[in-house]
Amino acid sequence: MARDLGVALAPVGIGFIRREVAAGTPVAEAEQEEAERVTREALARLDDVTARRLTLGPFVDNLPLRDPQRRLLRARLQGSYGADLGTIALRSLGGGFGTEESAGYLRAAAGNQSLGEAMARRLGDLRLGREVVTVGWSERGVSVLAAGGEGVQGGTEALQAEAAVLAVPHTILARLEFRPALPEALGRALAALPMGVAAKLAVATAAPPPLRARQDVAVPYWCWTGRGADGHARSALTAFAGSRAPLETLRTAEGDPGPWLARLRALNPDLAFEGDALLKDWSVDPLARGCYSAFDNPSWDRTDLLSRPAGRLAFAGEHTAGMESGTMEGALRSGLRAAEQVRAILSAARPGRQS
Ligand SMILES: Cc1cc2nc3c(=O)[nH]c(=O)nc-3n(C[C@H](O)[C@H](O)[C@H](O)COP(=O)(O)OP(=O)(O)OC[C@H]3O[C@@H](n4cnc5c(N)ncnc54)[C@H](O)[C@@H]3O)c2cc1C
Repeated sequence: MARDLGVALAPVGIGFIRREVAAGTPVAEAEQEEAERVTREALARLDDVTARRLTLGPFVDNLPLRDPQRRLLRARLQGSYGADLGTIALRSLGGGFGTEESAGYLRAAAGNQSLGEAMARRLGDLRLGREVVTVGWSERGVSVLAAGGEGVQGGTEALQAEAAVLAVPHTILARLEFRPALPEALGRALAALPMGVAAKLAVATAAPPPLRARQDVAVPYWCWTGRGADGHARSALTAFAGSRAPLETLRTAEGDPGPWLARLRALNPDLAFEGDALLKDWSVDPLARGCYSAFDNPSWDRTDLLSRPAGRLAFAGEHTAGMESGTMEGALRSGLRAAEQVRAILSAARPGRQS
Protein backbone atom coordinates (compact mmCIF):
# COMPACT_ATOMS: atom_id res chain seq x y z
CA MET A 1 0.00 0.00 0.00
CA ALA A 2 2.83 2.39 0.88
CA ARG A 3 4.31 1.76 -2.58
CA ASP A 4 0.93 2.37 -4.26
CA LEU A 5 0.57 5.63 -2.37
CA GLY A 6 4.12 6.75 -3.12
CA VAL A 7 5.01 6.78 0.59
CA ALA A 8 8.71 6.10 1.21
CA LEU A 9 9.60 3.47 3.83
CA ALA A 10 12.84 3.31 5.78
CA PRO A 11 14.42 0.62 8.00
CA VAL A 12 14.13 1.45 11.71
CA GLY A 13 17.41 -0.32 12.49
CA ILE A 14 16.32 -1.92 15.78
CA GLY A 15 14.18 -4.94 16.70
CA PHE A 16 10.87 -4.41 18.53
CA ILE A 17 10.76 -7.77 20.28
CA ARG A 18 14.21 -8.27 21.80
CA ARG A 19 15.18 -5.63 24.30
CA GLU A 20 17.98 -4.84 26.66
CA VAL A 21 16.74 -5.00 30.27
CA ALA A 22 17.31 -1.76 32.13
CA ALA A 23 17.30 -1.64 35.93
CA GLY A 24 16.86 -5.39 36.30
CA THR A 25 18.63 -8.73 35.78
CA PRO A 26 19.99 -8.80 32.20
CA VAL A 27 18.50 -11.30 29.76
CA ALA A 28 20.93 -12.17 26.96
CA GLU A 29 19.64 -12.20 23.39
CA ALA A 30 19.98 -16.02 23.24
CA GLU A 31 17.83 -16.28 26.39
CA GLN A 32 15.21 -14.03 24.82
CA GLU A 33 15.25 -16.17 21.70
CA GLU A 34 14.79 -19.22 23.92
CA ALA A 35 11.82 -17.56 25.68
CA GLU A 36 10.23 -16.83 22.28
CA ARG A 37 10.67 -20.49 21.25
CA VAL A 38 9.28 -21.79 24.57
CA THR A 39 6.25 -19.50 24.16
CA ARG A 40 5.56 -20.67 20.61
CA GLU A 41 5.93 -24.34 21.59
CA ALA A 42 3.57 -23.93 24.57
CA LEU A 43 1.02 -22.24 22.30
CA ALA A 44 1.26 -25.04 19.75
CA ARG A 45 0.67 -27.68 22.47
CA LEU A 46 -2.58 -26.13 23.71
CA ASP A 47 -5.84 -27.72 22.69
CA ASP A 48 -8.50 -25.45 21.22
CA VAL A 49 -10.79 -25.49 24.27
CA THR A 50 -8.01 -24.47 26.69
CA ALA A 51 -6.70 -21.82 24.29
CA ARG A 52 -10.17 -20.24 24.15
CA ARG A 53 -10.45 -20.12 27.93
CA LEU A 54 -7.00 -18.86 28.93
CA THR A 55 -5.74 -15.32 29.25
CA LEU A 56 -2.18 -14.18 28.63
CA GLY A 57 -1.35 -13.62 32.32
CA PRO A 58 -1.59 -17.21 33.62
CA PHE A 59 -0.22 -18.54 30.33
CA VAL A 60 3.00 -16.51 30.72
CA ASP A 61 3.20 -17.27 34.45
CA ASN A 62 3.21 -21.01 33.74
CA LEU A 63 5.80 -21.03 30.96
CA PRO A 64 9.00 -22.91 31.88
CA LEU A 65 11.17 -19.77 31.95
CA ARG A 66 13.67 -18.25 34.34
CA ASP A 67 12.28 -15.33 36.32
CA PRO A 68 14.21 -12.59 34.45
CA GLN A 69 13.03 -14.06 31.11
CA ARG A 70 9.43 -14.11 32.32
CA ARG A 71 9.67 -10.59 33.74
CA LEU A 72 10.92 -9.22 30.44
CA LEU A 73 8.30 -11.12 28.42
CA ARG A 74 5.53 -9.95 30.76
CA ALA A 75 6.68 -6.33 30.66
CA ARG A 76 6.84 -6.32 26.87
CA LEU A 77 3.45 -7.98 26.35
CA GLN A 78 1.73 -5.80 28.97
CA GLY A 79 2.91 -2.74 27.07
CA SER A 80 2.04 -4.09 23.63
CA TYR A 81 -1.48 -5.16 24.61
CA GLY A 82 -2.09 -1.95 26.56
CA ALA A 83 -3.80 -3.82 29.37
CA ASP A 84 -3.29 -6.13 32.34
CA LEU A 85 -2.38 -9.53 30.87
CA GLY A 86 -4.91 -11.25 33.13
CA THR A 87 -7.66 -9.77 30.96
CA ILE A 88 -6.20 -10.38 27.48
CA ALA A 89 -7.45 -13.44 25.59
CA LEU A 90 -4.61 -15.82 24.84
CA ARG A 91 -6.05 -16.06 21.33
CA SER A 92 -4.69 -12.55 20.74
CA LEU A 93 -1.24 -14.16 20.55
CA GLY A 94 -2.62 -16.32 17.75
CA GLY A 95 0.01 -18.24 15.85
CA GLY A 96 2.73 -16.59 17.89
CA PHE A 97 2.31 -12.88 17.09
CA GLY A 98 4.90 -10.93 19.01
CA THR A 99 6.86 -14.03 19.93
CA GLU A 100 9.44 -13.91 17.17
CA GLU A 101 11.80 -11.12 16.18
CA SER A 102 11.37 -9.88 12.62
CA ALA A 103 14.31 -9.61 10.25
CA GLY A 104 13.76 -5.90 9.74
CA TYR A 105 11.16 -3.30 10.65
CA LEU A 106 10.22 -0.49 8.32
CA ARG A 107 8.70 2.85 9.18
CA ALA A 108 7.07 5.46 6.98
CA ALA A 109 10.13 7.64 6.37
CA ALA A 110 8.21 10.88 7.01
CA GLY A 111 6.10 9.37 9.82
CA ASN A 112 2.87 7.33 9.79
CA GLN A 113 0.89 10.48 9.16
CA SER A 114 2.24 10.48 5.59
CA LEU A 115 0.12 7.38 4.85
CA GLY A 116 -3.06 9.17 5.93
CA GLU A 117 -2.07 12.31 4.05
CA ALA A 118 -1.39 10.36 0.84
CA MET A 119 -4.79 8.65 1.07
CA ALA A 120 -6.49 11.98 1.82
CA ARG A 121 -5.05 13.50 -1.38
CA ARG A 122 -6.92 10.84 -3.38
CA LEU A 123 -10.21 11.49 -1.61
CA GLY A 124 -10.66 15.11 -2.66
CA ASP A 125 -13.60 16.16 -0.47
CA LEU A 126 -12.20 15.63 3.01
CA ARG A 127 -13.74 17.52 5.93
CA LEU A 128 -11.55 17.73 8.98
CA GLY A 129 -12.36 19.14 12.39
CA ARG A 130 -15.92 17.77 12.41
CA GLU A 131 -17.13 15.35 15.02
CA VAL A 132 -19.86 12.97 13.93
CA VAL A 133 -22.53 12.95 16.61
CA THR A 134 -25.55 11.27 15.02
CA VAL A 135 -25.92 8.63 12.32
CA GLY A 136 -29.33 8.00 10.77
CA TRP A 137 -29.74 4.91 8.64
CA SER A 138 -32.55 3.29 6.70
CA GLU A 139 -33.11 1.04 3.69
CA ARG A 140 -32.72 4.08 1.43
CA GLY A 141 -29.55 5.69 2.74
CA VAL A 142 -27.50 7.18 5.54
CA SER A 143 -27.47 10.64 7.08
CA VAL A 144 -24.67 11.91 9.26
CA LEU A 145 -24.80 14.89 11.58
CA ALA A 146 -21.41 16.38 12.43
CA ALA A 147 -20.54 19.15 14.87
CA GLY A 148 -17.75 21.72 14.69
CA GLY A 149 -15.56 22.81 11.81
CA GLU A 150 -14.88 26.26 10.44
CA GLY A 151 -17.73 27.87 8.55
CA VAL A 152 -20.24 25.22 9.65
CA GLN A 153 -23.60 26.97 9.94
CA GLY A 154 -25.22 26.71 13.36
CA GLY A 155 -22.36 24.50 14.55
CA THR A 156 -23.61 21.35 12.81
CA GLU A 157 -23.43 19.96 9.29
CA ALA A 158 -25.66 17.26 7.81
CA LEU A 159 -24.49 14.89 5.08
CA GLN A 160 -26.57 12.40 3.10
CA ALA A 161 -25.12 9.32 1.43
CA GLU A 162 -26.22 6.05 -0.13
CA ALA A 163 -24.03 4.12 2.32
CA ALA A 164 -21.27 4.84 4.83
CA VAL A 165 -18.16 3.31 6.34
CA LEU A 166 -17.81 4.12 10.04
CA ALA A 167 -14.14 4.03 10.99
CA VAL A 168 -14.08 5.64 14.43
CA PRO A 169 -12.63 3.79 17.45
CA HIS A 170 -15.07 1.35 19.05
CA THR A 171 -15.19 3.45 22.22
CA ILE A 172 -16.58 6.32 20.13
CA LEU A 173 -18.86 4.11 18.04
CA ALA A 174 -20.47 2.82 21.23
CA ARG A 175 -21.28 6.42 22.24
CA LEU A 176 -22.61 7.78 18.92
CA GLU A 177 -26.32 8.32 18.60
CA PHE A 178 -27.77 5.95 15.98
CA ARG A 179 -31.28 6.45 14.57
CA PRO A 180 -32.55 3.77 14.79
CA ALA A 181 -30.24 2.12 17.31
CA LEU A 182 -27.67 -0.37 15.99
CA PRO A 183 -28.70 -4.04 16.09
CA GLU A 184 -28.79 -5.02 19.75
CA ALA A 185 -26.07 -7.70 19.54
CA LEU A 186 -23.66 -5.27 17.83
CA GLY A 187 -24.43 -2.51 20.33
CA ARG A 188 -23.72 -4.86 23.21
CA ALA A 189 -20.51 -6.17 21.61
CA LEU A 190 -19.20 -2.62 21.14
CA ALA A 191 -20.08 -1.54 24.66
CA ALA A 192 -18.39 -4.60 26.18
CA LEU A 193 -15.19 -4.56 24.10
CA PRO A 194 -12.30 -3.46 26.37
CA MET A 195 -10.00 -0.67 25.21
CA GLY A 196 -6.29 -0.64 25.97
CA VAL A 197 -4.44 2.49 27.07
CA ALA A 198 -1.02 3.75 26.05
CA ALA A 199 1.18 6.82 25.99
CA LYS A 200 4.29 7.86 24.10
CA LEU A 201 7.00 10.38 24.73
CA ALA A 202 9.54 11.66 22.20
CA VAL A 203 12.48 13.92 22.95
CA ALA A 204 15.30 15.27 20.79
CA THR A 205 18.89 14.37 21.65
CA ALA A 206 21.82 16.74 21.32
CA ALA A 207 23.67 14.27 19.05
CA PRO A 208 22.73 11.15 17.06
CA PRO A 209 22.38 8.42 19.73
CA PRO A 210 23.57 4.81 19.53
CA LEU A 211 20.81 2.43 18.34
CA ARG A 212 19.07 0.81 21.30
CA ALA A 213 15.86 -0.81 22.54
CA ARG A 214 15.66 -0.72 26.37
CA GLN A 215 12.92 -2.16 28.54
CA ASP A 216 12.25 -0.95 32.06
CA VAL A 217 10.71 -4.11 33.52
CA ALA A 218 9.53 -2.47 36.74
CA VAL A 219 7.26 0.39 35.61
CA PRO A 220 7.06 -1.06 32.82
CA TYR A 221 7.82 0.94 29.65
CA TRP A 222 10.43 0.78 26.90
CA CYS A 223 12.43 3.31 24.92
CA TRP A 224 14.35 3.18 21.67
CA THR A 225 16.31 5.07 19.10
CA GLY A 226 16.20 4.40 15.37
CA ARG A 227 17.40 5.37 11.93
CA GLY A 228 15.94 8.23 9.94
CA ALA A 229 15.11 8.28 6.24
CA ASP A 230 18.79 8.96 5.41
CA GLY A 231 19.87 5.72 7.11
CA HIS A 232 21.61 7.51 10.00
CA ALA A 233 20.49 7.47 13.64
CA ARG A 234 17.83 10.13 14.26
CA SER A 235 18.65 12.56 17.05
CA ALA A 236 15.71 11.45 19.15
CA LEU A 237 14.66 9.01 21.85
CA THR A 238 11.12 7.61 21.89
CA ALA A 239 9.37 5.84 24.75
CA PHE A 240 6.15 3.83 24.92
CA ALA A 241 4.11 2.67 27.91
CA GLY A 242 0.97 0.57 27.66
CA SER A 243 -1.65 -0.40 30.29
CA ARG A 244 -3.01 1.53 33.29
CA ALA A 245 -0.33 0.88 35.91
CA PRO A 246 2.64 2.51 34.09
CA LEU A 247 0.53 5.46 32.93
CA GLU A 248 -0.33 6.13 36.56
CA THR A 249 3.30 5.76 37.68
CA LEU A 250 4.48 8.08 34.89
CA ARG A 251 1.54 10.47 35.51
CA THR A 252 0.98 10.82 31.76
CA ALA A 253 -2.66 11.94 32.02
CA GLU A 254 -1.50 15.20 33.63
CA GLY A 255 0.25 16.11 30.37
CA ASP A 256 3.57 16.94 32.06
CA PRO A 257 6.44 14.96 30.48
CA GLY A 258 8.65 15.72 33.53
CA PRO A 259 8.17 12.51 35.58
CA TRP A 260 8.76 10.23 32.57
CA LEU A 261 11.66 12.34 31.29
CA ALA A 262 13.41 12.01 34.66
CA ARG A 263 13.21 8.21 34.39
CA LEU A 264 14.44 8.31 30.79
CA ARG A 265 17.45 10.38 31.86
CA ALA A 266 18.30 7.80 34.53
CA LEU A 267 17.88 4.95 32.03
CA ASN A 268 19.96 6.67 29.32
CA PRO A 269 22.69 8.58 31.20
CA ASP A 270 24.83 8.79 28.05
CA LEU A 271 22.22 10.88 26.17
CA ALA A 272 21.73 14.65 26.45
CA PHE A 273 18.14 15.72 25.78
CA GLU A 274 17.30 18.94 23.98
CA GLY A 275 14.18 21.06 23.70
CA ASP A 276 10.67 20.22 24.85
CA ALA A 277 9.61 16.59 25.05
CA LEU A 278 6.39 15.60 23.30
CA LEU A 279 3.97 13.56 25.41
CA LYS A 280 0.71 12.00 24.22
CA ASP A 281 -1.58 9.87 26.35
CA TRP A 282 -4.32 8.26 24.24
CA SER A 283 -6.40 7.35 27.29
CA VAL A 284 -7.35 11.02 27.70
CA ASP A 285 -7.85 11.76 23.99
CA PRO A 286 -11.62 12.36 23.68
CA LEU A 287 -11.60 11.10 20.06
CA ALA A 288 -9.89 7.83 20.97
CA ARG A 289 -10.57 7.05 24.66
CA GLY A 290 -7.70 4.58 24.60
CA CYS A 291 -5.08 3.19 22.22
CA TYR A 292 -6.55 0.07 20.59
CA SER A 293 -8.92 -2.73 21.52
CA ALA A 294 -7.76 -5.17 24.19
CA PHE A 295 -9.79 -8.30 23.45
CA ASP A 296 -10.82 -10.45 26.39
CA ASN A 297 -12.27 -13.93 25.80
CA PRO A 298 -15.97 -12.94 25.65
CA SER A 299 -15.13 -10.24 23.08
CA TRP A 300 -13.07 -12.68 21.01
CA ASP A 301 -16.15 -14.88 20.74
CA ARG A 302 -17.99 -11.93 19.17
CA THR A 303 -15.37 -10.66 16.68
CA ASP A 304 -17.51 -11.57 13.63
CA LEU A 305 -20.23 -9.16 14.76
CA LEU A 306 -17.85 -6.20 14.69
CA SER A 307 -17.06 -6.38 10.96
CA ARG A 308 -20.58 -7.27 9.79
CA PRO A 309 -22.50 -4.45 8.02
CA ALA A 310 -25.78 -3.19 9.46
CA GLY A 311 -28.05 -2.16 6.60
CA ARG A 312 -26.12 0.45 4.64
CA LEU A 313 -23.49 0.92 7.33
CA ALA A 314 -20.12 -0.83 7.08
CA PHE A 315 -17.58 -0.77 9.89
CA ALA A 316 -13.81 -0.38 9.62
CA GLY A 317 -11.01 0.17 12.11
CA GLU A 318 -8.54 -1.93 14.03
CA HIS A 319 -11.28 -3.33 16.30
CA THR A 320 -12.86 -5.01 13.26
CA ALA A 321 -9.59 -6.61 12.13
CA GLY A 322 -9.68 -9.87 14.13
CA MET A 323 -6.17 -11.30 14.50
CA GLU A 324 -4.73 -8.04 13.15
CA SER A 325 -6.56 -5.80 15.61
CA GLY A 326 -4.40 -3.21 17.32
CA THR A 327 -2.18 -2.78 14.25
CA MET A 328 -1.83 -0.36 11.35
CA GLU A 329 -1.98 -3.28 8.94
CA GLY A 330 -5.27 -4.49 10.44
CA ALA A 331 -6.81 -1.01 10.29
CA LEU A 332 -5.78 -0.54 6.65
CA ARG A 333 -7.02 -3.97 5.58
CA SER A 334 -10.31 -3.40 7.41
CA GLY A 335 -10.86 -0.29 5.28
CA LEU A 336 -10.43 -2.32 2.08
CA ARG A 337 -12.83 -4.96 3.40
CA ALA A 338 -15.41 -2.32 4.37
CA ALA A 339 -15.13 -0.71 0.91
CA GLU A 340 -15.91 -4.11 -0.66
CA GLN A 341 -18.91 -4.46 1.64
CA VAL A 342 -20.21 -1.04 0.58
CA ARG A 343 -19.76 -2.03 -3.06
CA ALA A 344 -21.86 -5.15 -2.41
CA ILE A 345 -24.51 -3.15 -0.51
CA LEU A 346 -24.86 -0.67 -3.38
CA SER A 347 -24.88 -3.40 -6.05
CA ALA A 348 -27.66 -5.22 -4.21
CA ALA A 349 -29.62 -1.97 -3.88
CA ARG A 350 -29.26 -1.17 -7.57
CA PRO A 351 -28.96 -4.37 -9.60
CA GLY A 352 -27.04 -3.80 -12.82
CA ARG A 353 -25.04 -0.90 -11.41
CA GLN A 354 -21.28 -1.07 -12.01
CA SER A 355 -20.05 0.46 -8.74
C1 LIG B 1 0.71 4.58 21.15
C2 LIG B 1 0.37 3.67 20.01
C3 LIG B 1 1.36 2.89 19.44
C4 LIG B 1 1.06 2.03 18.39
N1 LIG B 1 2.06 1.29 17.82
C5 LIG B 1 1.79 0.52 16.74
C6 LIG B 1 2.82 -0.20 16.07
O1 LIG B 1 3.99 -0.13 16.45
N2 LIG B 1 2.48 -0.97 15.00
C7 LIG B 1 1.20 -1.05 14.54
O2 LIG B 1 0.94 -1.73 13.55
N3 LIG B 1 0.19 -0.39 15.17
C8 LIG B 1 0.46 0.39 16.25
N4 LIG B 1 -0.55 1.07 16.88
C9 LIG B 1 -1.94 0.80 16.48
C10 LIG B 1 -2.37 1.55 15.25
O3 LIG B 1 -1.95 2.89 15.33
C11 LIG B 1 -3.91 1.46 15.22
O4 LIG B 1 -4.30 0.11 15.17
C12 LIG B 1 -4.50 2.17 14.02
O5 LIG B 1 -4.05 3.50 13.90
C13 LIG B 1 -6.01 2.18 14.16
O6 LIG B 1 -6.57 2.80 13.05
P1 LIG B 1 -8.12 3.09 13.03
O7 LIG B 1 -8.40 3.69 11.71
O8 LIG B 1 -8.86 1.90 13.48
O9 LIG B 1 -8.35 4.18 14.19
P2 LIG B 1 -7.71 5.60 14.40
O10 LIG B 1 -6.36 5.69 13.80
O11 LIG B 1 -7.87 5.87 15.87
O12 LIG B 1 -8.66 6.56 13.57
C14 LIG B 1 -9.93 6.89 14.01
C15 LIG B 1 -10.19 8.34 13.63
O13 LIG B 1 -11.53 8.67 13.97
C16 LIG B 1 -11.55 10.00 14.41
N5 LIG B 1 -12.77 10.20 15.19
C17 LIG B 1 -13.05 9.78 16.45
N6 LIG B 1 -14.29 10.13 16.79
C18 LIG B 1 -14.83 10.77 15.73
C19 LIG B 1 -16.10 11.36 15.47
N7 LIG B 1 -17.09 11.34 16.38
N8 LIG B 1 -16.31 11.95 14.26
C20 LIG B 1 -15.33 11.97 13.32
N9 LIG B 1 -14.11 11.41 13.51
C21 LIG B 1 -13.86 10.83 14.70
C22 LIG B 1 -10.28 10.13 15.23
O14 LIG B 1 -9.92 11.48 15.38
C23 LIG B 1 -9.30 9.34 14.37
O15 LIG B 1 -8.68 10.18 13.43
C24 LIG B 1 -0.27 1.95 17.92
C25 LIG B 1 -1.28 2.74 18.49
C26 LIG B 1 -0.96 3.60 19.52
C27 LIG B 1 -2.05 4.45 20.12
